[in-house]
Amino acid sequence: MDLLYLSLYISCAIINMGFASSLQSFQYMMSRSLNSSIADEIVQLANLPETVLWMKDIRRQIHEHPELAFEEFNTSALIRRNLDEIGVEYRWPVADTGVIASIGTGAPPFIALRADMDALPIQELVEWEHKSKLEGKMHACGHDAHVTMLLGAARILHSIKSTLQGTVVLIFQPAEERGEGALRMIKEGAIENVEAIFSMHLATQFPTGVVASRAGEFLAGCGGFRAKICGKGGHAAIPQDTVDPILAAAASIISLQNIVSRETDPLDSQVLSVSKVSAGSAFNVIPDSALIAGTFRAFKKKGFNALKQRIEEIIVNQAAVSQCTAELDFLEGEHPRIPPTVNDERVYEHARHVSSQILGDENVKVAPQYMGSEDFAFYLDQIPGSLLLIGTRNEKARYTHPAHSPFYSVDEDVFPIGAAIHAAFAHSYLLNLTKEHQHISC
Ligand SMILES: [Zn+2]
Ligand SMILES: [Zn+2]
Repeated sequence: MDLLYLSLYISCAIINMGFASSLQSFQYMMSRSLNSSIADEIVQLANLPETVLWMKDIRRQIHEHPELAFEEFNTSALIRRNLDEIGVEYRWPVADTGVIASIGTGAPPFIALRADMDALPIQELVEWEHKSKLEGKMHACGHDAHVTMLLGAARILHSIKSTLQGTVVLIFQPAEERGEGALRMIKEGAIENVEAIFSMHLATQFPTGVVASRAGEFLAGCGGFRAKICGKGGHAAIPQDTVDPILAAAASIISLQNIVSRETDPLDSQVLSVSKVSAGSAFNVIPDSALIAGTFRAFKKKGFNALKQRIEEIIVNQAAVSQCTAELDFLEGEHPRIPPTVNDERVYEHARHVSSQILGDENVKVAPQYMGSEDFAFYLDQIPGSLLLIGTRNEKARYTHPAHSPFYSVDEDVFPIGAAIHAAFAHSYLLNLTKEHQHISC
């Protein structure tokens, strides 16, 4: 998940600090409001001491050996070993290191649960027993916990597989931080025939035992651009013999700021930042070319696509005004343009309902929109789904640092909660789909 996204959470976290509670109280909350025996069984299975210990052990192994995007070979092997032990079938390799497991009837309906596996190029500064053993690499976005919670769900779902009304597809994807993993998994068939998809991301702005999400536009789409503006270099004292690309670049930067301030609805939040400028090497030489680069973000797909189009039009035309030419690159080769994360209303509502059953209504929040992005959006671009933020803030234990911080820590009490929500979501969503399909065939 994008760095900006989590770093924006601090103020939100302060608001929610009052909800912090202990593992005992989650178990209480998790059982008190359940109204179906299967959901009750899921919560019990998630909280079995041997399951909790097993999950902690998995997370600590992954945490000690973090692997960057598309290098998650050991993480992938660990996932497969555990799936073998549970007795769950899987397909591998998908997108180099990805694993796709399935539990249930093997027949439709299919619904998917997704976890990401990659770590970040950060040196861990938390001193604890299971600190990263690899220099300069760290699970600082909680993807080790995401894998753990999905394996926890696999274990639970396997033990109640005879009650599943269809098939749960478990997607362990690489390279979320590079924004490429989801796309590769989709290209290699991860969501073929899948009717809905669900995923969770840890969030330190919410205390452990609290989850949050929202229907519709949730996280912004994120794109990058780089423009090379070409003129004609020469002596800075004889500008009439040159075509100045710096002037064209400066005019472009100013004009780009007009898109958000003058062309878009102020109630439809968008960002366009020029964050890099480079040109010239001497005070008395006009260079041949200038380079500008930046990022753009928007919540609505239409606005996001319009931003991209206007960036190109403005830079190309501003360059022409100054008799320059411009070449635009939207950096698709380096970092794919991530669409806005838009939660499907029905899947969101289902996840909210399941979370309320497990944690109690008071611990299921409506999240604000965030300007960060998640490559889970690629799945949501193709099929209905929803992303849920799962709180992992624990003031007492000082697990308060935002994701992508070298001091980031995870409250391990979140594992049974996440595993139970994954499993309960999948089980009940399949049930609903089956009922719906039966109704249609009648
Ligand atoms: Zn991240
Ligand atoms: Zn992340």
